[in-house]
Amino acid sequence: MKPKILLIYTGGTIGMMSDPNTGELQNLDFTYIHNQIPELNRLDVVLTTISIQHPMDSSHMRPSVWLEIASIIESNATKYDGFVLLHGTDTMAYTASALSFLIQGFKKPIVLTGSQLPIGVLRSDGKENLLTAIEIAGKKNEEGYSGLHEVAVFFQSKLFRGNRTSKVSSHQFDAFDSPNYPLLGSAGVTIALDSARLLSPELLEPQFYKQLDPRVGLLKLYPGINLKGYSSMFKPENYRAVVLEAFGSGNTPNDSSFGEVLQAYVENGGVLVNTSQCTSGGVQPGKYASGHLLKALGAWDGKDLTTEAAITKLMWLFGNYPTVKESDFTNVVAGESL
Ligand code: ASP
Repeated sequence: MKPKILLIYTGGTIGMMSDPNTGELQNLDFTYIHNQIPELNRLDVVLTTISIQHPMDSSHMRPSVWLEIASIIESNATKYDGFVLLHGTDTMAYTASALSFLIQGFKKPIVLTGSQLPIGVLRSDGKENLLTAIEIAGKKNEEGYSGLHEVAVFFQSKLFRGNRTSKVSSHQFDAFDSPNYPLLGSAGVTIALDSARLLSPELLEPQFYKQLDPRVGLLKLYPGINLKGYSSMFKPENYRAVVLEAFGSGNTPNDSSFGEVLQAYVENGGVLVNTSQCTSGGVQPGKYASGHLLKALGAWDGKDLTTEAAITKLMWLFGNYPTVKESDFTNVVAGESL
């Protein structure tokens, strides 16, 4: 029996066309994709397409739309063998991360893909990305089931774990990377998945979460930063947690006003999360004296999480649990960190 795949269109460059008057790229009706890629009909899958309510440039993506996508997948969970999401590249890594926390223990592939050039453009990377993502979602192993039981990103012949991925180039076709986790697979002459690297969900039944709390802040540190200028960020009523992109292995400046702002925030109930602004590696709290401040303030250990995964994991935790502890945050639920 041919695998049944649900193709979910959310927008992005892959489905855009330029406005003849202004030259600006705008979203198209989803039917455009079928017209542009008649090869879709030749794939060895039964393909059904659906669109979110308002497809968008992924810069406009937000937590409510992540919940909409998760609910489309939940309501079609038993009807399909795999899911492919067409998504803009700009925030694809955030959506992939959010979905990996919203949908846990789901033993079917959810593959996100998009393109750097619109599908209607001659040299577009969209066609190959889309056709291969569908093939991956429909791939079976010896037992007849896909071994891919997680949210993945497929781009330019590479398959990544979604919540390990970041967009690293705004102009290369090779636009994504996952520096802290090896590829799940690649598409050359054949499509090969590395079964040892795939997630094996422990939950017996899939769990779909319905809430996200968007009150999560993000601040990248830089030499000379004056935290007093960010005072509204360090108010727990505005942001329950602030992810700090610290230097290197989790280091910060040592001026007294920096420490005072953070201390007041923590005393008032705010949560600090220590992550590294380096793209590979992660934090090692307390390794250097300059890492002592965050450790002393009880900042949560962001380990080797991507910023995208740290933010969406906090939104998921605070959205679904009345109290959240550091151990809930560091507990690995979808292969997102070490
Ligand atoms: N701005 C577009 C988006 O993220 C870029 C892309 O799709 O590549 O929706």
